[in-house]
Amino acid sequence: MSSEKDSRPGADHDYGFGTRAIHAGAVPDPATGARATPIHQTTSFVFDSAEHAASLFNLQTFGNVYSRISNPTVAVLEERVASLEGGRAALACATGMAAQMTALLAIVKAGDHIVAASTLYGGTVGQLGIGFGRLGIETTFVDPEDPDNFRRAIRPNTRAVYGETLGNPLVNVLDIEAVAAIAHQHGVPLVIDNTVASPYLCNPFAFGADIVVHSATKYLGGHGTTMAGVVVESGKFDWGSPLARDKFPEMLEPSRAYHGVKFYETFGDFGYTMKARMEVNRTFGGALSPLNAWLILQGIETLHLRMQAHCRNALHVARFLGDHPLVSWVNYPGLESSRHHALATKQFRPVDGLPGASGVLTFGIKADDPARAGERFIDACQFLSHLANIGDAKTLVIHPASTTHRQLDAAELARAGVRPDMIRLSVGIEDAADIVWDIDQALRAATR
Ligand SMILES: *Cc1c(COP(=O)(O)O)cnc(C)c1O
Repeated sequence: MSSEKDSRPGADHDYGFGTRAIHAGAVPDPATGARATPIHQTTSFVFDSAEHAASLFNLQTFGNVYSRISNPTVAVLEERVASLEGGRAALACATGMAAQMTALLAIVKAGDHIVAASTLYGGTVGQLGIGFGRLGIETTFVDPEDPDNFRRAIRPNTRAVYGETLGNPLVNVLDIEAVAAIAHQHGVPLVIDNTVASPYLCNPFAFGADIVVHSATKYLGGHGTTMAGVVVESGKFDWGSPLARDKFPEMLEPSRAYHGVKFYETFGDFGYTMKARMEVNRTFGGALSPLNAWLILQGIETLHLRMQAHCRNALHVARFLGDHPLVSWVNYPGLESSRHHALATKQFRPVDGLPGASGVLTFGIKADDPARAGERFIDACQFLSHLANIGDAKTLVIHPASTTHRQLDAAELARAGVRPDMIRLSVGIEDAADIVWDIDQALRAATR
């Protein structure tokens, strides 16, 4: 499969992020000379001969068989995101939720256990807590503020530790290096959802994470048009180490789910990705369509420029809200006053000399009934869009307690840190002056 070719820059030159965002994984089409990546809108690929077909099925030759397994357009996206994350290989999936599920089902099964941050995206809390629970996979959710909480929750049957670089919607910053060290002491990989930071602002592999997942629906695509997800492998986790080998026999032994292949022995530092592709995505069917892969690739070509603009605008908005008489609190790790500022400085690429903390921030309105004022604020916004998404070029606004986190009860809301008055903004890349103008007039209308 072409997606597992080594796409890292040559030893003679290390390409910068912007160059890789535009070129990694792609070459002009050898058949037609097309410069843009073609959309290979086909289900299947013709074999050269019976022998060629057999060797493809045996995974002895890299090549395409059927687009649920691999596709050349999707492969460009996989190589590109692997390059941007500094990873070894990647697997693209239909959505971010499919990517997380695939990433975890490649290493957990009934009877196994996961330790995860309690502040995860609401959909992920549901996937792990309820969805995986039904499959006999148990998750313990811990407060990620103290990395030792992960250590305390690890059991003999724990097979993964899971967290988010930047929580959604709390925008809390995880100490990836500390949590990775704890996971590795117990012989299990650290899986990080890097959706909110994007690979431009943070590469979790540089801090010891082993597997990265993305909802490419957000900043990678960047325009609110397309659902997609990606799983990336660092290639550094040693599945055969004395601590890990008894925990992951299915990485080492012949696969019952795929032709007796020994994934780690055969594919080495991309064995995990091959297992996720052949045993999980191929079997459970969460493949990404070639058209959607192409749309995400278009977005990624401007990721570096957009992330800088998102960070600048979000910092401008956070400072404006911090000084506003109608605002009771602001939470944005890019602010020097944030309790996460030091970790943000360590983990995030600087933008204009300050840690780039992405475009998501939260705040509360000063009012007798702040929850009601929050709803009125949202109704009063003029061009800010009220919808359940982040990472769009457009500025988006939502009241999590009555929408994305509506299914959580009061205790779960408190554990997730979602206050009743919390407004979440995903600051877009429009003119900053217009964004603060709309916020200001809506704040006045909401408290009038
Ligand atoms: C949106 C989101 C997801 C889920 O991704 P989809 O593409 O919507 O399936 C997972 N994690 C985070 C942090 C998200 O923001």
